[in-house]
Amino acid sequence: MNNDREIILSIKNLKQYFKIPNATIRAVDNISFNIYKGEVLGIVGESGSGKSTTGRSIIRLYKPIEGEIIFKGKNISGKIDKKTNTMLRKKMQMIFQDPIASLNPRMKVLDIIAEGLDIHEKISDVERKERVYEILEVVGLNKEHANRYPHEFSGGQRQRIGVARAIIMNPEFIIADEPISALDVSIQAQIVNLMRKLQKERGLTYMFIAHDLSMVKYISDRIAVMHLGHIVEIGDSDSIYNNPIHPYTKSLLSAIPLPDPQYEKNRKRLIYNAKPSDYVNREYKSVSYSHVVLANDDEYYKWVNSENLKTNDLII
Ligand code: ADP
Repeated sequence: MNNDREIILSIKNLKQYFKIPNATIRAVDNISFNIYKGEVLGIVGESGSGKSTTGRSIIRLYKPIEGEIIFKGKNISGKIDKKTNTMLRKKMQMIFQDPIASLNPRMKVLDIIAEGLDIHEKISDVERKERVYEILEVVGLNKEHANRYPHEFSGGQRQRIGVARAIIMNPEFIIADEPISALDVSIQAQIVNLMRKLQKERGLTYMFIAHDLSMVKYISDRIAVMHLGHIVEIGDSDSIYNNPIHPYTKSLLSAIPLPDPQYEKNRKRLIYNAKPSDYVNREYKSVSYSHVVLANDDEYYKWVNSENLKTNDLII
């Protein structure tokens, strides 16, 4: 798939399990995928699918129990040397869901945004301020905002600060973990548009995590659908949207309301009931050059040959 394109991040057989009293949660259960330079890969799935755990493992907030994470050719899943760590801190950034929780309330915006510069670049006070003022303009704020505290801003403005903090180091890759979910619907499009504009202008690569397929479709070149710690389907956005194969993907799509009364009148909510064992001994089958689905032979046959999937797997 996309063999001619440069891979910026490669995930190989990643597993992340959490031990809780009397149980082990298989939050991420043997996933593999590539992210190509300059693309937006959307990761969708309902809450608890393992999306955040995947993002947090990539940015090294969790150490994987198994598997490899290769970023710009370096394996970063285990111990890394200082040089790789510095490269990583500059080139990979994360934008979090809840800007109020992720911005230190006691720090001025100037210092919040300059944190990366303070750690990694020896620059004068004047240049530090200039860099912050410049980035504030880029995200649609201005230099008067630099001396204020996070609580003085609206949700949308706070997420702009989150974006500014992520891009000031000129990263190549950004993990955006539900960056718009905490925002008013009217503000969500503004933040997505800003992120999209920055991605195009700066040639950024995004992994954009969301539970809402409609926003993901808008920003993503490709979409990976996650369920119960597995990637059940991955492919070009159009292909996932127009030709979904996995019943879980179909159930997510069926939940999206469209501003079309005729469609809404006929829209049936599909529900997919899967157990973790439904993903054992499955493999990726090609739907097209750029689209694969996790299935066994019988499922694959059934799914590609049924228009409306009126099978036992699905309650309509
Ligand atoms: P998503 O981002 O798709 O909502 P998560 O990655 O947050 O999903 O969670 C996947 C599963 O792992 C969930 O069952 C969640 O409860 C569990 N989980 C996530 N983080 C932890 C943790 N630190 N300790 C224990 N369980 C966790």
